[in-house]
Amino acid sequence: MLGQMQNQQLLISSLIEFAERHHGDGEIVSRRVEGDIHRYTYRDLARRSRQLANALDGLGLERGDRVASLAWNGYRHMEMYFGVSGSGRVLHTINPRLHPEQIAWIINHAEDRVLCFDLTFLPLVQAVHAKCPTIKKWVALCDADRLPQDSGIPDLFSYEDWIAPASDEYIWPQFDENTASSMCYTSGTTGNPKAALYSHRSTVLHAYAAALPDVMSLSARDAVLPVVPMFHVNAWGIPYSAALTGCKLVYPGPAMDGKSIYELMEAEHVTYAAGVPTVWQMLLGYIKPAGLKFSTLKRTVIGGSACPPAMIRAFQDDYGVEVLHAWGMTEMSPLGTLCTLKNKQLELPEDEQMKVLQKQGRAIFGVDMKIVGDDGRELPWDGRTYGDLLVRGPWVLESYYKGANPLVMDEQGRGWFPTGDVATIDADGFMQITDRSKDVIKSGGEWISSIDIENIAMAHPAVAMAACVGMPHPKWDERPIVAVVKKPGAEVTREELLEFYQGKTAKWQIPDDVVFVDAIPLGATGKMLKTRLREQLAGYKLPGV
Ligand code: ADP
Repeated sequence: MLGQMQNQQLLISSLIEFAERHHGDGEIVSRRVEGDIHRYTYRDLARRSRQLANALDGLGLERGDRVASLAWNGYRHMEMYFGVSGSGRVLHTINPRLHPEQIAWIINHAEDRVLCFDLTFLPLVQAVHAKCPTIKKWVALCDADRLPQDSGIPDLFSYEDWIAPASDEYIWPQFDENTASSMCYTSGTTGNPKAALYSHRSTVLHAYAAALPDVMSLSARDAVLPVVPMFHVNAWGIPYSAALTGCKLVYPGPAMDGKSIYELMEAEHVTYAAGVPTVWQMLLGYIKPAGLKFSTLKRTVIGGSACPPAMIRAFQDDYGVEVLHAWGMTEMSPLGTLCTLKNKQLELPEDEQMKVLQKQGRAIFGVDMKIVGDDGRELPWDGRTYGDLLVRGPWVLESYYKGANPLVMDEQGRGWFPTGDVATIDADGFMQITDRSKDVIKSGGEWISSIDIENIAMAHPAVAMAACVGMPHPKWDERPIVAVVKKPGAEVTREELLEFYQGKTAKWQIPDDVVFVDAIPLGATGKMLKTRLREQLAGYKLPGV
């Protein structure tokens, strides 16, 4: 017997329709590439998304055609989120920090038909446009009077000129909720990037889940600043959850330095922010020496790579800002786990709570996870045993766009996505990432977590950033060393830092050496690029080897 409830498809257009009707006057503030601050409302966003949808229809684009963006976080980019996907096309958000060769490669791989870009990326577009024959329209996300002359790009349009004549009346098409809505390529640190192709259903379900109190807890009372870029897994889904909840949105545009972010937070009374640890490092690096405080910021989601406990403490103890540690992947839309305490843990002493809060957290309903050993058997949830982390759920990838199906089948015939992460899970369901499987250090048959080694170094007051890698060792196979960037003006010696490890981890896990470097190479999404660091350390020999 079937249920007798309305069978409405879960479509992204329903989010923007809801936003317009129920919190149409909610504010969306953007720092523009032009440098000024732009303000409008969800009502304006909905109206202009419909104009964009009409403009896309006018180009004769088919359903499923890919429309690409090379853009910062801002209102025009958000219009693309709804206008492109809502009208049945697929939004392809390109990471501008990728190498131009890779950008040309993914445009061709995705067979993008339209590319809309912020003027910051004009040189990039000039470098790739001749190699991208599938694109039939190039659009600069700017006012008409800002359109560059002699750009060398044929028929370049300004976005405003393009959508201005289009009607703002549009009936969003209804279609199967499993229709593709957007795509995002992984950063491809090894080999060519691979794309996750999201659907309307996966996106809407993820938007619901992200808004839950123990997940990102977004509400109409928040003013949210996503520092995480809209080209990186849809800014962790925040634009969709924002439309669903009606929170005020504050977009930082291209100004991602500590000062600009801080000033925007204060000016717009931001209560909530989200980003990768390296961004928050810059923010703390700006406000601490300047003796500044946050007057409205209450919570921040930190994820994308392990958040050092020292950062959680700094936010909490020095600024009264709650840190929510999150874990996810491009292949997971991206949210998998988020760390919030359970009721019974509220009575724990602060130190015990901190041990929990530095974990990557509990699975969100919609994500099932397990850890397995080399033989594929599930391992116990005891907080100590580590294994390969596998996940499944309605917003987890099944197969890559034009690519392989990486799923591992279980005895019941259910497919699990192998995350490539090594993790423990404790009896309360809190997952902790030990490492990416390719970064884990194998010493004398035991594993050493590079994240643990980095976190200890990061707790030293003179250390700005630390990256731990394994170096070949004739007896132990590999031994850890830690590459360290000192804070400006701070001093610490190799010996002092090695001494700092004493008592904080097992003796055999203490790194064999400290190498001071000017910078740790970062990848396109702000994560440490250990492959590049290892290349830089080529020729390095462990002491005594
Ligand atoms: P890419 O694969 O392009 O670098 P993703 O954002 O998809 O970008 O990266 C996902 C990976 O990032 C995870 O598999 C995990 O290794 C790492 N990661 C994400 N969040 C965390 C976290 N909170 N702690 C540790 N590692 C994390």
